[in-house]
Amino acid sequence: MSDRCPIRHILSLSGGKDSTALAVYMRDRVPEMEYVFMDTGEELPETYEYIEKLEAYLGRPIVRLNPERSFAHWLHVYRGVLPSPMLRWCTRKLKIEPFEHYVGNDVCYNYVGIRADEAQRKGYISSKPNIIARYPFIEEGITKDDVLRILDESGLGLPDYYRWRTRSGCYFCFFQQKIEWVGLLENHPQLFERAAQYEKIDPVTGKRYTWVQGESLRELSQPERVAKVRMGAERRLKAFSSRLGNQSLLQVFSDVDSDEDEQQCLICSL
Ligand code: SF4
Repeated sequence: MSDRCPIRHILSLSGGKDSTALAVYMRDRVPEMEYVFMDTGEELPETYEYIEKLEAYLGRPIVRLNPERSFAHWLHVYRGVLPSPMLRWCTRKLKIEPFEHYVGNDVCYNYVGIRADEAQRKGYISSKPNIIARYPFIEEGITKDDVLRILDESGLGLPDYYRWRTRSGCYFCFFQQKIEWVGLLENHPQLFERAAQYEKIDPVTGKRYTWVQGESLRELSQPERVAKVRMGAERRLKAFSSRLGNQSLLQVFSDVDSDEDEQQCLICSL
């Protein structure tokens, strides 16, 4: 590879709208681009379908990078402590390290889909000096409306999970909101169950390891709790609808949760 192209060009895909739009945008601008998808093995079925659609559109292979060991393995290594915003071992073990291994010591430009309208967004990307981040959307003033237009014009549209969830990433991602857990319960009950099985109570200390702070998924899935989460979500929708216009629940939440988004790993959520 390096004989032909001293600097590699790599675009890492999360299965989200921004990195997908970036792939569409860059397809003819950097023909030697390598497309990679960091597949944790714990993604939503809609994400896998969307990546396949994108691959067909690009007419280029998308390399699936799987971690050497599964999430369950690492959870065991971390003694059952679920990843969280404070202890984000999942991103490093399931995404960053496989990506760094794929790049090796080659110098590469890593294309990242942060948009111009979120230029302050910070994230967790590789700190290896041979991996140089590039931000074409920021450089060229591409905003969310442009991203939606790019996806629309390409025929790809949005990933199907946007019907009930605001972001890409593992089905059990701890960054999701309670209404999105409810969405997981309703759209993929078997994945909700798998996520619930990862939750544990330490038999010695009694400490609970749950995805949602202070509440297990079993508790969250009780019908009366689901109804309450729905009501809370509807209330938030009403509170913001006058400011943000006639948007869907998930569109509103993806707009108002920018503080939370800033803490996310870019490699997961673009
Ligand atoms: S999507 Fe969420 S759970 Fe998955 S690796 Fe990223 S931060 Fe961790």
